Amino acid sequence: MVVELPVYKIIMQKIKNYINGELIIPQAGKYLDNIEPATGEVYSLIPDSDESDLALAVIAAENAKSTWANTSTEQRAQVLCKLADLIDSHADRLALAEAIDNGKPVTLAKDVDIYRAAANIRFFAHAGTQFASESHAMEDVAINYTLRDPIGIVGCISPWNLPLYLFTWKIAPALAAGNVVIAKPSEVTPMTSYLFSQLCIEAGLPQGVLNILHGTGPNIGSPLVVHPKVKAISFTGGTATGAHITRATAGLFKKLSLELGGKNPTVVFADCDFEDTVTTVVRAAFANQGQICLCGSRIYIERSIYKRFKQAFVTRVAQIQIGDPLAKETQHGALVSKDHMKKVLSYIELAQNEGGIILTGGKQRQLTGRCEKGYFVEPTVIENLDNNCRTNQEEIFGPVCTIMPFDNDAQALALANGTQYGLAASIWTNDLKRAHRMAKNIEAGIVWINCWLLRDLRTPFGGVKSSGVRREGGLEALRFFTEPKNVCIKY
Ligand code: NAD
Repeated sequence: MVVELPVYKIIMQKIKNYINGELIIPQAGKYLDNIEPATGEVYSLIPDSDESDLALAVIAAENAKSTWANTSTEQRAQVLCKLADLIDSHADRLALAEAIDNGKPVTLAKDVDIYRAAANIRFFAHAGTQFASESHAMEDVAINYTLRDPIGIVGCISPWNLPLYLFTWKIAPALAAGNVVIAKPSEVTPMTSYLFSQLCIEAGLPQGVLNILHGTGPNIGSPLVVHPKVKAISFTGGTATGAHITRATAGLFKKLSLELGGKNPTVVFADCDFEDTVTTVVRAAFANQGQICLCGSRIYIERSIYKRFKQAFVTRVAQIQIGDPLAKETQHGALVSKDHMKKVLSYIELAQNEGGIILTGGKQRQLTGRCEKGYFVEPTVIENLDNNCRTNQEEIFGPVCTIMPFDNDAQALALANGTQYGLAASIWTNDLKRAHRMAKNIEAGIVWINCWLLRDLRTPFGGVKSSGVRREGGLEALRFFTEPKNVCIKY
């Protein structure tokens, strides 16, 4: 059953920037096509913003800066909670918009993306009121206390895979800590951040506190990161873009938080709870069409259960229901864009050239009717590849995983750590000592034992190696978005 289409899907809509509390058209009047990935059709237009739009946003943010910084945390929390409530009350509409814009199943959008967007805002609204600073007594000589002031104007740049979820994950702590924000959502999935800007107006967020500029990395992302008035950048996206931003801001003394790509290992030991493991490892590999930075795309299985696990896993993957993202029964929707689909298909071809054997999937899926021109790729499982081949080393960020056997703990650890990435890992075992040992030695910012994507928003979130610099989440985010100042008082 396909849900009813919203008005903006029927009447071509021009998305607007949100600057100084108002929805306005881009200064240069230029737009980009916004394509629905499930149909391949242009369904709305996105501002192709540039430095002239950024200049307006900087003026608005500058004007709002001191009032917002001096607004009590309690009052900031009140307006943020109102915003979270509005997301909840518009959850169906936002989920539908996310599914249309991104290609993800509408049920996933509602249960994960939109639910988490509201939860992010509510969490940081409250966390802001609980944020305390440290004091350090120097015996009978002096006492130090640390002030934590907002930074001022900060830039938040987010990707397309979890559009409103990751957008709010950044702007909520920034706002709760008293900063004013210039945010740039991905140009690939702008719709829910546009609808969100309408909710900001309804919630009574003061003018200029949050400004949302739509457009491309080169035209608006680049000017934003180097703007002298923007003192911190919180970025989530690809590792190559993160490296580019690091180079572009070198010597500008900005605070940078970078959440980058992953190539996450899933390590399955013979003593795992078999059924539970198979179920969750399937989800970990293919949720959101494999387009979650935390997806486990390299699956290592202890040799003694390799055949049994492979059979059960492949059977389950082959049953994943591919379909129109707007149909409630769909489990696997479209990839986000034609370019991304081509990239994913090229990796499937590469895997075969590298000696990989496709166990299920491997092809573009042609649907009929409304979605006949959509960007659908079958959930794909590949075996017989070496850990060092490109398929196992490079982030594909799609519905493709590899499975490989291992013989002992040391080998499993070496395989899991054998890439440039270090975002997340999941380990499946009932041996407590082994679980702790693996968790300690695995090179990742996040380790799940016998679970995946179980999230407590208070915990540090982020990666090591080429997966990122710094952490988001909980107090880490509030620390990032504040400047500590130590005051030392002699007795
Ligand atoms: P991307 O790097 O292409 O784009 C991310 C954002 O950066 C977009 O808003 C884009 O417009 C902007 N951007 C691009 N070039 C820029 C530039 N030169 N200056 C400033 N901004 C620029 O990434 P993507 O394709 O949108 O997202 C997929 C990637 O994001 C994957 O690698 C995935 O692993 C990663 N990701 C990481 C996390 C995490 O928490 N570590 C979460 C989600 C996604």
